[in-house]
Amino acid sequence: MFVTGGVTSSLGKGIIAASLAKLLQSRGYSVTIQKFDPYINVDPGTLNPYEHGECYVTEDGAETDLDLGHYERFLNVPTSQANNVTTGRVYQTVIENERRGEYLGKTVQVIPHITDEIKRRMKIIGDTGEFDIVITEIGGTVGDIESLPYVESMRQLIWEMGEDNAIVIHLTLVPYLKAAGELKTKPTQHSVKNLLELGVQPDVLVCRTEHHLSPELRRKLALFCNVTPNAVIESIDLNTIYEVPMVMLKEKLDKVVLAKLKLSTKAEPDMAQWRDFLFKLEHPKSEVRIALVGKYIELPDAYKSINEAFIHAGASNECKVKVTMVHSELITDDNVGSKLEGYDGILVAPGFGSRGIDGKLLAVKYAREHNIPFFGICLGMQCCVIEFARNVAGLKDAHSAEINPDSPHLIIDLMEEQKKISQKGGTMRLGSYACTLEKGSHAAKAYGKTSITERHRHRYELNNNYKAQLEAAGMKITGTNPETGLGEIVEIPSHKWFVGVQFHPELKSTVANPHPLFVKFIKASMGN
Ligand code: GLN
Repeated sequence: MFVTGGVTSSLGKGIIAASLAKLLQSRGYSVTIQKFDPYINVDPGTLNPYEHGECYVTEDGAETDLDLGHYERFLNVPTSQANNVTTGRVYQTVIENERRGEYLGKTVQVIPHITDEIKRRMKIIGDTGEFDIVITEIGGTVGDIESLPYVESMRQLIWEMGEDNAIVIHLTLVPYLKAAGELKTKPTQHSVKNLLELGVQPDVLVCRTEHHLSPELRRKLALFCNVTPNAVIESIDLNTIYEVPMVMLKEKLDKVVLAKLKLSTKAEPDMAQWRDFLFKLEHPKSEVRIALVGKYIELPDAYKSINEAFIHAGASNECKVKVTMVHSELITDDNVGSKLEGYDGILVAPGFGSRGIDGKLLAVKYAREHNIPFFGICLGMQCCVIEFARNVAGLKDAHSAEINPDSPHLIIDLMEEQKKISQKGGTMRLGSYACTLEKGSHAAKAYGKTSITERHRHRYELNNNYKAQLEAAGMKITGTNPETGLGEIVEIPSHKWFVGVQFHPELKSTVANPHPLFVKFIKASMGN
């Protein structure tokens, strides 16, 4: 099933794809989703979060588009490198093939070489035989120059597979013109025309709208866009993305696509667990206020997975989590009290580089001294180690080598073997690593076991030479990589709930499995 987008970007193709996948999964089909991004970066790892939001890391260490996060949160099935392909990666493969002489002297061209490589990658996951259905989301908007090779590859693949085996779901916008008091279908007609010019007839239209579509308007869209009337699906704006699967169920999106593929619709979707989650999310019994201290606060997508993990953890505690972004660059010695006053819990976010670091250190100090539940993630964990080293363990000017390589106490440092690497893309510690937890620690209590795995994305590590000094001063390393001995979790046992983790727990939080550390952090904040 291909999912394309028309009229404008940001219509939420990823959410529609994930919602459809959820419904198909709940009918017993095994489903996965892959995303093709038309930009030339080889992966989003080198992109600033202001560009496309956070970079989502998979179990196998791929740096991918944040839509893969939605797929995992909805489906509770891990994705991998193969689930996200960019134009950069496609060209890289073709150019490497050319250098090896694999094209036997032929002129290498967009058609057929680039499109063949795109098709090969579109088929990889399906060819494993593990899935009944592969949903393939084409990033960008139909009509863009850079999307053309993808639309052409899709056209060829549909032709090769036969119409019963592939369909196109086109997501579009039906805008409301206030002055005319009307919903307008023309942009949708034009974007479908765009697709038709490229040889692709969409089978289903999913229409994003702020107002309900009348039966006449649905008929009009069906007639002019050449789809069956039941294949015009309304996707109205909702309070939360987690309602989308239920609304798509009501609109029968799953039934329509299965019928078009001549697949059975006998097994009714079992959405009981999802409904239970939604009920808890929408009927909280209490509320907590959390300060999320970070530097990318202008773009909420930069902390997408953290915000979603809070939603899962809130529902699991039947508590509304009100997250307020606090700009780390604006926190100073003088205003830290007023900026962080009144929050039940403080989370210091991941990040790269020195911007806003002093504000993060002040936020850690405030949480530590005022006994406010504290959660530090990745750079946030590194900050809590630096702050503790400086202000409690007496290691003056302790710092991370990333920020001040001349510090007398590089408490966060590069490992020896990393020091020779100068390339930036794909050179971090990425993906899933094991971690052994200390019995009785907050971490072990949260997970309910002492052997876990979590996903990483960072260059710098806690410097074990300082372990004894930190522990003597009251900060415990409660999680360790069993193979390398690297410290992965720190806690202050004398504090109410103070946990810093070198990994990214937010990436593994799903509707079906809210992350235990987020659940316990919210619980601790509720008691504050
Ligand atoms: N900048 C830090 C490092 O590279 C932390 C990275 C992060 O927060 N993801 O180690």
